[in-house]
Amino acid sequence: LVRLRSRLARSQSSLGRGLLTVLGREKLTEDDWEEIEETLLAADIGVAATTQIVSRLRTQSMVLATATGEDLRQLLVRELTAVLGPDLDRTLHTDRHDGRPAVVLVVGVNGAGKTTTVGKIARSLVGDGKTVLLGAADTFRAAAADQLETWGERVGVLTVRGREGGDPAAVAFEAVRTGTEGEVDTVLVDTAGRLHTKSGLMDELGKVKRVVEKHGPVDEVLLVLDATTGQNGVVQARVFTEAVHVTGVVLTKLDGTAKGGIVVSVQRELGIPVKLIGLGEGPDDLAPFEPEAFAEAIVG
Ligand code: GDP
Repeated sequence: LVRLRSRLARSQSSLGRGLLTVLGREKLTEDDWEEIEETLLAADIGVAATTQIVSRLRTQSMVLATATGEDLRQLLVRELTAVLGPDLDRTLHTDRHDGRPAVVLVVGVNGAGKTTTVGKIARSLVGDGKTVLLGAADTFRAAAADQLETWGERVGVLTVRGREGGDPAAVAFEAVRTGTEGEVDTVLVDTAGRLHTKSGLMDELGKVKRVVEKHGPVDEVLLVLDATTGQNGVVQARVFTEAVHVTGVVLTKLDGTAKGGIVVSVQRELGIPVKLIGLGEGPDDLAPFEPEAFAEAIVG
């Protein structure tokens, strides 16, 4: 939690402090409630969740008048946790099956942080004593495969790659085949994120998934979203959720934005749980998303 707090952009805990200051006022006026609403909206929590939080705080405002600072803090943590989807299943399925590895496809637009996230997940799995193989299914740019391979070397795992301009699905298939032969636990497949045309991308991702499924069901399709792109990113994300069955979102760059509330919008608008959050560029800057810890970190 301490690490989460220090990693989240400092402006996020100023959101919590701002809310606490207003809530701590002796008698809350309409202007105060408006200020609370604006603060929540500015953090990209979205209209529906903001309305929910404000209305719940209002019904408790009689109590607020006599609450101590600590009571207020706890109340705010509880209300923020409630909109962060505390009951969503965020299990990351990376365990090996009988006779074949778990397969995780990582999708998202270029620049969102896919390759970095693959490297971080690999690092974490290796840290848990698992064997991992990477698949470089972004065959459009040689630099993309190079970057993935560099991450692989950094965390001590091998990368399967194809020719530049080759078939991404063939590389993904080969990665899973190699992983099966080598009896690895988890194969992580990095995909291309060119939003050239919507149908082109959908066809390509759909094909990668279908071809990989010849080995057995895919365990996770993780959509990597850059938190700093805000609501635009959420709209863009729909292209991916329409192309493949996404099982979880990785929200990156939360260390660089004051809009941590985007977690709420992503989950409500896409109906998919945020499973992991990116908190920096280093190999260990990835954390499981835990609603209560996140709310605690924001309130500060
Ligand atoms: P890709 O094109 O989707 O594979 O994106 P990359 O993995 O190449 O990442 C794009 C840039 O974002 C790189 O400079 C990464 O170091 C950076 N990045 C990725 N994740 C994070 C994060 O959680 N926090 C920060 N601050 N930067 C990140």
